Amino acid sequence: MDAKSAARERFESAREGLIGLSHRIHAHPELGFEEEKSSSWLCESLADAGFSVDKGICDLPTAFRARAGSGPLHVGICAEYDALPGIGHACGHNIIAASAIGAALAAAKVADDVGLTISVIGTPAEEVGNAGGKILLLERGGFKDVHASMMVHPAPFDMLRSKIIAASMFEVHYTGKESHASAFPELGVNAADALTVAQTALGLLRQHIRATDRFHGIITNGGAAPNVVPAHTSAKFIVRSETLAQLAELRPKVYRCFEAGALATGSKLTITGGDKPYAEMLHDGDMASFYRANSEALGRPFPDLGEWETRPTGSTDMGNVSLAMPSIHPMIGINSLPAVNHQPEFTAHCVTADADKALIDGALAMAWTCIDLATTPGVRNRLMGRS
Ligand SMILES: [Zn+2]
Ligand SMILES: [Zn+2]
Repeated sequence: MDAKSAARERFESAREGLIGLSHRIHAHPELGFEEEKSSSWLCESLADAGFSVDKGICDLPTAFRARAGSGPLHVGICAEYDALPGIGHACGHNIIAASAIGAALAAAKVADDVGLTISVIGTPAEEVGNAGGKILLLERGGFKDVHASMMVHPAPFDMLRSKIIAASMFEVHYTGKESHASAFPELGVNAADALTVAQTALGLLRQHIRATDRFHGIITNGGAAPNVVPAHTSAKFIVRSETLAQLAELRPKVYRCFEAGALATGSKLTITGGDKPYAEMLHDGDMASFYRANSEALGRPFPDLGEWETRPTGSTDMGNVSLAMPSIHPMIGINSLPAVNHQPEFTAHCVTADADKALIDGALAMAWTCIDLATTPGVRNRLMGRS
């Protein structure tokens, strides 16, 4: 039996368990850095399959690394498993997690035959927008010795190389002064007005940015009572640009809009976060080509998506991984339209038969891609830094 058939056979024996794992994670959504149950279940599955598992690596209790095989080419498969506040697994990270385990189990079956080491890297808190799990793991050696990385991410439809842009999430706090809003308004310093001025300035700035720039946010504290001049207001904003370099140009302009709010009202501005931005994604050409062929062999072609191919999508800390080593991040379709990521309707779609099929196809396409990488000498040597 050839390696891909053997990997598929191994996957088939685990298939029902992996679907169960995906549904269990979906039913117990956990926010970033709090994914205790999800990470434990994933580690248990990998340990049961004979992987050596290190949980809580790099001072991150819900991160892990699990390894099988001892071949020269070391491929990391990234698992995400965090959910979103209020709307659960609306980004389908349950599918990412289960497909990562499935790919690793299948590839591990033939790892030593084809010259592979396979590690599943459990990466917490992708949705937090700043200092995500992969960024901290990269800084702290969590990806040490890994030559190339991959993961699949659910989406309404399949897309091989979505345009993933850089992003930076930061928090804004204004401090003013309370006063009776009617009896002594002249003694108050209105921190809510500061946010209004800032958002007006941001709205005007939108005329003067690149088509690939984005900024958007929420007010997390707008004041306590209408008859008290708000002295403390807060917001969370994300600023995005095509690349980290363009983000570095845009961010000061956005910050100046917040400074304008402070200047106009006399309140004090504090900005926190934004220090560890998400990078743009560089899709490795060889890895993407193998993944495409394997996906097509599984009956999952990549349709021509027209403007979607070049339209900016979201951001992910997998972008930071892709700047550190060759990587891919294909989007795998769950046939959810009109529901899209970060909608509760998408959450509901992440445990349908189409979602389970995405998990299965994504896992196998990744496992087969690992085999291709290890058995194509030119590519293997390039990934290992030998040319
Ligand atoms: Zn998301
Ligand atoms: Zn996501």
